[in-house]
Amino acid sequence: MPQSPPRPARQQFASDNLAGICPQALQSMLDANSSGHQPAYGDDAWTQKSTDMLRDLFQTDCDVYYVFNGTAANSLALASLCQSYHSVICAPVAHIETDECGGPEFFSNGSKLLVAEAGGEAARLGKLTPDAVEHIVTRRHDIHYPKPKVVSITQATELGTVYTVEEIRSLAAIAKRRHLKLHMDGARFANAVATLGVHPSEITWRAGVDVLCFGGTKNGLAVGEAVVFFDRDLAADFAWRVKQAGQLASKMRFISAPWVGMLENDTWLRNARHANAMAQRLFEAIRGVPGVQVLHPPQANSVFARLPGAAVARLHTIGWKFYEFIAGGGCRLMCAWDTQPETVDAFAADLAAAVDEAA
Ligand SMILES: *Cc1c(COP(=O)(O)O)cnc(C)c1O
Repeated sequence: MPQSPPRPARQQFASDNLAGICPQALQSMLDANSSGHQPAYGDDAWTQKSTDMLRDLFQTDCDVYYVFNGTAANSLALASLCQSYHSVICAPVAHIETDECGGPEFFSNGSKLLVAEAGGEAARLGKLTPDAVEHIVTRRHDIHYPKPKVVSITQATELGTVYTVEEIRSLAAIAKRRHLKLHMDGARFANAVATLGVHPSEITWRAGVDVLCFGGTKNGLAVGEAVVFFDRDLAADFAWRVKQAGQLASKMRFISAPWVGMLENDTWLRNARHANAMAQRLFEAIRGVPGVQVLHPPQANSVFARLPGAAVARLHTIGWKFYEFIAGGGCRLMCAWDTQPETVDAFAADLAAAVDEAA
């Protein structure tokens, strides 16, 4: 007897990578699988197509590479921008600083991350500012200090906020003045584009970004991020880096074909808009609950809030999963491309009931 598949588990707010693969990406994967034997290591038609589609999307002749995950995308991109004696300026909450196990330092043979001082409104929102960059670049010039070479920003940020076009332009301006490259960790790039309602080029190369790690996984792929070099010179030998790091997929088409499915008909953007809308719905539903303090209105697909301790415990007991104490104390409630309004409403109702019970 064939076993029936397990019942789908309840949706959660722990992360957007708890969600599965979106139907369009999965269909493209199936289509790729129906196309018989194909060249390996990226020499296939799917990889050509997804790369051309990304060039169309960004309206520029960028250089594109696919890797398995965001840590590799960031680490290898930064390594390609740095010598070992260089440094990378980032925000205290940057994923490259807090969640990549030293990957950027390892793959760059020791380039140091220089974390901007926390404090002020921008820091509260998880952002880097031109002043913070300027301060780090100018505080030392001597040979004993790792030479600043890159500014790295995350769009949308780790705190669910979004850099405006103007903010990116001014960071790019200081980077340019100080001869620094600008790297963008775009694990949630789609959510930022959806929020800003701008053309993707406006917050990347047209604003001065040199390389973007364009996240696919959290947007609905099974696996796979695109490293997009707008300055193609910076991608010299990048293919070798990818291979040496164990990030070159031999059946590359199963990473690139889902990107085709994602890019066709703007599925990537529609997925992001949906996730963002669910975060707004969640915000509206919980902001008035007594004892709940939303840290800032959501700008992407997450809500950060302080919740009463007893309510947090109760929510966990009844099976809700979400992270506490993320970057400054709040609970992080993350919505995904497939988060259902009913899930949001059920969570909000359980939260209100838990607060009532504790009162
Ligand atoms: C999820 C995420 C990544 C990628 O993480 P992996 O687990 O390595 O795929 C990178 N940057 C940010 C901001 C993220 O949230």
